[in-house]
Amino acid sequence: MPTTSPLPHPIITIDGPAGAGKSTLSRTLAETIGFTYIDTGAMFRALALAAQQAHIPWDDESQLAALLPSVHLQFHHTHGQRRIFLNHQDVEDAIRTPEIGIGASAVSVHPSVRTFLLVQQRHLALQGPSVLEGRDTGTVVFPNAPLKFYLDASAHERALRRLRQLGPNSSTSLKEIQQQIEARDRADTQRTHAPLRCPQDALRIDTSSLSPQQVLQQMLDATYARFPSLPKVPPPPLHELH
Ligand code: C5P
Repeated sequence: MPTTSPLPHPIITIDGPAGAGKSTLSRTLAETIGFTYIDTGAMFRALALAAQQAHIPWDDESQLAALLPSVHLQFHHTHGQRRIFLNHQDVEDAIRTPEIGIGASAVSVHPSVRTFLLVQQRHLALQGPSVLEGRDTGTVVFPNAPLKFYLDASAHERALRRLRQLGPNSSTSLKEIQQQIEARDRADTQRTHAPLRCPQDALRIDTSSLSPQQVLQQMLDATYARFPSLPKVPPPPLHELH
C-alpha cells in the first residue's frame, strides 16, 4: 500500500519516547472510543525475544533477516487483555523485561526488521479503526493518518514514573533509570532508519506536569473534534502513566 493512499477508516497514531505515558494513554484512548489498539513496540520486543530464543545476536542483521520468515506474530484477547503471541505462544509477560527492551531497541535499527514489521503493522491497522502506538507510527507507518499525537515528558519525570512502577523494593536508583532512559532516547532518535521524530502535523503534549486524566481528556477532545460522528462517552479514571 502506498503510504498516501486514502485510509478506509480512522487511524490514530501515538508516538513518543519511552516512559512518556504512551502505553496507558494509547490503550485507554482505544478502549474508550472502541478502536483496536496496536502496540508496535510489543512487536519489536517479540522479535528480539525470537532472536534470543534462536541464539541470534541482536546486532546480526543477516541472521535476523533469515529468521524473519519463521516469525509469526499475532495479538489475541485473553484474560481481558490484548496480548502478543509469538509463533502461537503467549509472550506478553516474557517481552516486558528491561533486557528485551534493550533487545527491541537493538533489532529496531535494522531496515529488514523494520520493513517486516511495517507490513504487518499496516495490515493489522487496515482491518478496522485503530490506535497505533510506537516511535514511527505517524512518520513512517501512517504518515497520512488523520490524527496524530506525540507524547513527551522530561527524562527526569519519566525516570520518576518508572521508579514508582518498579516499587519500593527496586534496587535501581533514580539516576540509573534516568541514564537508561536517556540512552534509549539517543538510540531511538539517532538511528538512520525511521528515527523517533515528532510528526509535523502531530498534536504534541508534554505530560510532565499534567495528570493522566488531563492528558486523556486533551486526547479525547482532539479525537472527538477530528471524528465528530464518534459517540462521546465519559473517560475512565486514570491514576498512573506508564
Ligand atoms: O515502546 P517499547 O518500549 O515497547 O519499544 C521498545 C523499542 O522498540 C523502542 O525503544 C524502539 O527502539 C523500538 N520501537 C521502534 N519503533 C516502534 C516501536 C518501538 O523502533 N514503532
